[in-house]
Amino acid sequence: MIRTWLLSVLLAAVVTAAPTWLCRVEFENFEDVYAVAATGAKVVMCLDECCLVHAEAEALAGLDAAGFGFELLDAGPQHKEYVYVMPVPEFDRSELARYGRVLTEDRDGVVLATDTEGIFRLTGLPVELAGVGNEEMPLERRSTEPEPLAVPDSLVRELVGRVSDDTLHSMLLRMREFRTRYSTTDSCRSAMEWVRQLFLGYGCDSVHMDTFLSNYAPSCIGVKRGTLYPDEVFVVCGHVDATSEFEHRLTNTPGSEDNASGASAVLELARVMADMRFQKTVWYIGFSGEEQGLHGSDSFARHAMLRGDSIVLSINFDMISYSTTHPDWMEMYGCTDSPPSVTWLDFFLAQADTFTDLQAERIVEGVPARRSDHYSFWKYGFPFIRGGYKDRTPKYHTIGDTIGPPGYVNCGTNNIPMHGEVVKALVATVAKLAGAEPMTGVEEGPERGRTRTEPRLPTVMRAPELARYGGRVFDIHGREVTRSRTGIAPGVYFLRSEQDGRMHAGQKVVVQQ
Ligand SMILES: [Zn+2]
Repeated sequence: MIRTWLLSVLLAAVVTAAPTWLCRVEFENFEDVYAVAATGAKVVMCLDECCLVHAEAEALAGLDAAGFGFELLDAGPQHKEYVYVMPVPEFDRSELARYGRVLTEDRDGVVLATDTEGIFRLTGLPVELAGVGNEEMPLERRSTEPEPLAVPDSLVRELVGRVSDDTLHSMLLRMREFRTRYSTTDSCRSAMEWVRQLFLGYGCDSVHMDTFLSNYAPSCIGVKRGTLYPDEVFVVCGHVDATSEFEHRLTNTPGSEDNASGASAVLELARVMADMRFQKTVWYIGFSGEEQGLHGSDSFARHAMLRGDSIVLSINFDMISYSTTHPDWMEMYGCTDSPPSVTWLDFFLAQADTFTDLQAERIVEGVPARRSDHYSFWKYGFPFIRGGYKDRTPKYHTIGDTIGPPGYVNCGTNNIPMHGEVVKALVATVAKLAGAEPMTGVEEGPERGRTRTEPRLPTVMRAPELARYGGRVFDIHGREVTRSRTGIAPGVYFLRSEQDGRMHAGQKVVVQQ
């Protein structure tokens, strides 16, 4: 019996002869992470005063030689599932042992070894999850700070003035009507399809459904391509998915504050900007899979890094429509590790000051909290800012996260006017950073006004309709088309008209027979 036992121990030792370990490495400040990576250890997640790495014997010796304190947490991490769990402060952390194996913890949360079932059960608790993952964190950071473009304040004021509390309210109500937006449900897929239709209706050049796990609803990305600098991208995002108690999650997750509020901020921005174009590219994103560990944004940001996308800034909102003791207050975060992030944070706060009644508290972190999708952008090297609640709703992650009367405590959303002020600050920020311009085509002549009194024609029309057009028509070679009784051949044409001494040019139409 003892010999069999010894044999199995020996066998185990041989099988794991050169094991990879999941380790916790202590550091003083974030800069130490570069020295940790130099030992050959693969950094997979940064916590407040430590990081999690995959390391083999050589890297462990290197960590030791470099004087880093470390702790072996688990062998063979490549094929296991780990999640970092951040409970609300009142939650008893010892409860978490029922959902997986507790490996280590820090001020903000606990690292658990668990499985898919464990993760679904965790989403029924008042906790935020961030998947630890096996991907190495790239440690390069962008440090460019592009100049904001010149956008007249009069235009910014006009755009800010379009933000409507009623529209926000109706968006919150509509999202609640999906009954559940738990990421793995058909109902969440329907919600994403609804988001797609809105992005299309709001003038996006293209809309893309980003599938990251086959059993999850996709994230939805609306693209408004920049006219002058299409390769510089601003991301504005909020997660659409939601969660509630484990037993209700597949049938009832109203998720009004968390996070119909953040998602509707993105949708309202898109609506307000529907007839604008931008000099730089803007991506509107509704993420899925946030509640199960930031899966949608992690996959999206990782692929953006691999493609070499130039994301100048990502702006994320999560939980922005509830307040109690701090009416009209929200917290706005940036981080020191990504220097442009602080510049952008101050830029956002300046817009909030100038154009809104919002009281935004400025918070600069070292390593950003892993509480929402902004962490994924930071993880893959992109600057971010994010906004969230000052007062947290007691109905967080429950079926009670619904819309209540103004100021009511036991609900999710109770301050839509504050929500509207956040969106106004967002509109002003994006208008200035991405360079909003009215979509009126090229105007020739001394006066560069923005008013356009002439109604726009449809972009696809039939020959007789174009024949009735009062202005001048040019073909794609620039030749003016004389319209005879025989009509106009199918093809692409450009229209030009004069009105009150001003010339409007540039609309393209496709003529069908
Ligand atoms: Zn959330």
